[in-house]
Amino acid sequence: MSLFLVLEESRGRISRASWEAFAAALCLGPAQDVTAVVIGAETEALAGEAATKGVGKVVRVEHPLLARYTADGFCLALHQLIQSQSPTQVVFPHTYQVRDYAPALACKFGQVLIGDVIGIEEGPVFTRQLLQGRLTGTYRHSGNGPCILSVQAGAFRADTSNAKASAAPAPIAIFRPALDAAQIRTKPGAPFRSAPQTVDLSSAQRIVSVGRGIQSAENIPLAQAVAQALGAELAASRPICDNGWLPMERQGGSSGQTVAPRLYLAVGISGAIQHLVGMKGSQCVVAINKDPNAPIFEVADYGIVGDLFEVVPALMEALNAVQ
Ligand SMILES: Cc1cc2nc3c(=O)[nH]c(=O)nc-3n(C[C@H](O)[C@H](O)[C@H](O)COP(=O)(O)OP(=O)(O)OC[C@H]3O[C@@H](n4cnc5c(N)ncnc54)[C@H](O)[C@@H]3O)c2cc1C
Repeated sequence: MSLFLVLEESRGRISRASWEAFAAALCLGPAQDVTAVVIGAETEALAGEAATKGVGKVVRVEHPLLARYTADGFCLALHQLIQSQSPTQVVFPHTYQVRDYAPALACKFGQVLIGDVIGIEEGPVFTRQLLQGRLTGTYRHSGNGPCILSVQAGAFRADTSNAKASAAPAPIAIFRPALDAAQIRTKPGAPFRSAPQTVDLSSAQRIVSVGRGIQSAENIPLAQAVAQALGAELAASRPICDNGWLPMERQGGSSGQTVAPRLYLAVGISGAIQHLVGMKGSQCVVAINKDPNAPIFEVADYGIVGDLFEVVPALMEALNAVQ
């Protein structure tokens, strides 16, 4: 059995989502069966990084036409690689880029992309969420082509800190696909660069998230203060951002960012399903809510039933006392 893990670059490094996909791949087979794939015009540095993380092998898929992402270029190049090496499974992080080209890649093998997987059981049986997380569905691969899947951000815990600095780096091979400029139907523009103030909640280790229980924009500094005391990023439920009390980039949930911090402190958040799907990968959830039946308590590791305007100042006092 061989397993491909297609890695993605972010700011010159392999993205965190890619290592989460590696964690998912380890549910399918041992690390030595995993071949990490990096794609581009010049992938030496990324391949070098990947080789030290415990995978069995690294393949650099290189061509000048892959210098910038295009769906056609990536799809054609990976199609040729998969045809030549016949892996049984191909695992991707479920990023915007992967959503763009992986379904077409799967089609080339008479398959569908099993997208946004949140769980893998023996079989393998893959779990996905349906209807905004209200239902979950289970899927098995069938047919002759490779099983192609993508993994939801935050669903598997990336072990980037101790992502094995293996004794010897994995061997690195180069695969040069045959590509012709005429096959690439889109012309890539300059890569999107997020504005410097843009918040990346997905990589935050601590998050304080504030909901409608905060009552008004004037009270947001209360949540800001507790976030600062905890060294946490400030996030919010959708109504807070819809009201303009915090910028949209701070929204967590199905239509906001998916987060997986070590600590998620939910302040005055009810725990609607659209909110939960974006934060259920958190390691430790602490919820403050005055309603003991609030759904957020179903996912909370620690629940504080009380008025946030009393609980948060008391928490601040306790934090200040230990600092
Ligand atoms: C298509 C779609 C997409 C959506 N996407 C998202 C999304 O990405 N993210 C998201 O968050 N939502 C999303 N929503 C909205 C979601 O359904 C909920 O409406 C929203 O999450 C509720 O936000 P909330 O918990 O802050 O507010 P509420 O549901 O109003 O809850 C406020 C909570 O605060 C508590 N409270 C009130 N006063 C206090 C107090 N003094 N002290 C302590 N607790 C108090 C209440 O008991 C209550 O539980 C989406 C909805 C749809 C239809």
